[in-house]
Amino acid sequence: MKPFTYVRPADTKAAIAAARASGASFLGGGTTLTDLMRLEVMSPTTLVDLGPLPLATIERRGDGIRIGATASNSDVANHALVTERYPLLAQAILAGASQQVRNMATVGGNLLQRTRCPYFRDRAVPCNKRTPGAGCSALEGYTRSHAILGTSASCIATHPSDMCVALAALEAVVHTRNGSRERAIPIGDFHTLPGDHPEIENVLEPGEMITHVELPASPFAGHARYVKVRDRAAFAFALASAAVGLDIADGRIRAARIALGGVATKPWRSLEAEQALVGQQPTRASFERAAAAALVDPKPSRDNAFKVTLAKHTIVRALELAWGVS
Ligand code: SF4
Repeated sequence: MKPFTYVRPADTKAAIAAARASGASFLGGGTTLTDLMRLEVMSPTTLVDLGPLPLATIERRGDGIRIGATASNSDVANHALVTERYPLLAQAILAGASQQVRNMATVGGNLLQRTRCPYFRDRAVPCNKRTPGAGCSALEGYTRSHAILGTSASCIATHPSDMCVALAALEAVVHTRNGSRERAIPIGDFHTLPGDHPEIENVLEPGEMITHVELPASPFAGHARYVKVRDRAAFAFALASAAVGLDIADGRIRAARIALGGVATKPWRSLEAEQALVGQQPTRASFERAAAAALVDPKPSRDNAFKVTLAKHTIVRALELAWGVS
């Protein structure tokens, strides 16, 4: 690990000022960042610890809720407001990592989680995300865990978060501050596709700090489910996951939410799949049509064509469980 300066700011203003230094990074729970610092995949010159700041509150906000950026994943998943109103979010968080990691990991950090592409974490091989312009080792490598949606000729790495898939389905809004400027960024606009610049993963500007996330009121709490398919029952990243919600009245689907993880380069909401369900009866046939609509134009690589079928099955299973089919 390379030497760095550790800053423990007194307030938000001081934190943002410190983070404007070249090579500076905010530190949340450190569950991704310190890992990558040990591997020297990331080498920030300054770490600005957000721990001392009062950003961990989870509270009602109008008809929705507000979750502070440094709230731990465990606190979010177990908070009554979340389990009652947004069970999808609680399920997704509890499907990720381990209890120990969830105790440390923060909401802000989870939003900024880096990919688990093995080539990204191995400094001995080229990676466009780690070293722009170096090349992508995955394109000629082993791609079982890689993405089939949102890929580019420069990068096919999956976004690793479970939490963000649920946030995409719930239309979360990420709130930030940079000096006196505040922004409210819809989750769908927060993460970027790799394109020609996979090193850029979100729309944050230098020094811009995530302060909290807001979730609007949700009609999906009664029929929501996160299903994650992975190689091990615990502490494994998704091969495919689906966060779904159904709003059903008089035997018909009024509205639906479908977002995918483990198969795309960013948390992947499928408006096409959602639209395919509106006005339909909640049946296996309508769920299968929605799943097909979500995977219209996948781009599998050598070792991950199985993800096309797996993602469809994952969506159908999540919809069935959300509807109440056991
Ligand atoms: Fe790097 Fe992306 Fe290629 Fe993985 S897929 S080696 S992260 S450029």
